[in-house]
Amino acid sequence: MSYKRVYIFIFSFISFMFFSSAVQAEEEIYEKRLALFKKTEALTQIPWYYFAAIDNYERNIKKNDDNEQVISITIPPELWFGLGNSSMMMEEQTISFFNGKGKDGNGDQKADPSDPEDILYTIGNIILEHGQTKDDIKIALWNFYKRDLTVQTIINTSKVFKEFQEINLTDRDFPVSIQHNYSYRNTWGDRRGFGGLRIHEGTDIFAGYGAPIKSTTYGVIEMMGWNLYGGWRIGIRDIYNIYHYYGHMNGYNDDIEVGQVVKPGDVLGSVGSSGYGPPGTSGKFPPHLHYGMYKDNGYSEWSFDPYPYLRKWEKIARNKD
Ligand SMILES: [Zn+2]
Repeated sequence: MSYKRVYIFIFSFISFMFFSSAVQAEEEIYEKRLALFKKTEALTQIPWYYFAAIDNYERNIKKNDDNEQVISITIPPELWFGLGNSSMMMEEQTISFFNGKGKDGNGDQKADPSDPEDILYTIGNIILEHGQTKDDIKIALWNFYKRDLTVQTIINTSKVFKEFQEINLTDRDFPVSIQHNYSYRNTWGDRRGFGGLRIHEGTDIFAGYGAPIKSTTYGVIEMMGWNLYGGWRIGIRDIYNIYHYYGHMNGYNDDIEVGQVVKPGDVLGSVGSSGYGPPGTSGKFPPHLHYGMYKDNGYSEWSFDPYPYLRKWEKIARNKD
């Protein structure tokens, strides 16, 4: 073996070890979280997947992914400690004297807003003020966040976690069957003529009529129906606060309906050329899937370029073949 080869060997060995330990650390943090959610369910009788969904929502509206927290839920200090508890005393009795919500979830006699068990137990108690039914939880979430899209996203994510009994859901798929002919290029941000000046908020994947269209991610079908520009379209809200928009479809799969949980690879319908007119208008342009992605940061939603993700998912789909 030449020196060069030895170096390459050592380098690949080290990067392999680094990669596998990163994957292991990632799996460990998911296991740790799931255990914490289930412990809080035992204490509050609120199903674990609601805690998991709240935590997941808050993790995905935060900007820096650098030091990943075990639990990402933030409870504002004035809500935790109570107004007037300005020295932030952590004793439960003091906190409740000042009408704070902070609770001790791990039995160390302190309600610590940086302790994962205390955070989850406190959120559980904030929900329990409203009750334990699905509707009570929804109302509690609305009172806490005061935003419809946030509540909707958390409820959707809780449905996904409940269905798969798992929070480590990382699989993905390409939105058009790779067994069919298709082509696409990066056209995000291009100017569009129809309907005044709009920019192109997505990637067009050209394929023949009837090529299957699939869910790329884990999520819930949030919207279906006709739209002037999009024709027959579907919107899926995933578990990362991202909305996936599918336009110009030929039709929907029979078993697809609003509120349904989907996973990567689930067939939603097929490629068509619907849109640019009243319901049923078709054939005004070559058949393709318009695929758009919109991120919600907890305040507003904006379109971003799906092209790099499509490239990644295409590779994943090829490896499944
Ligand atoms: Zn398009």
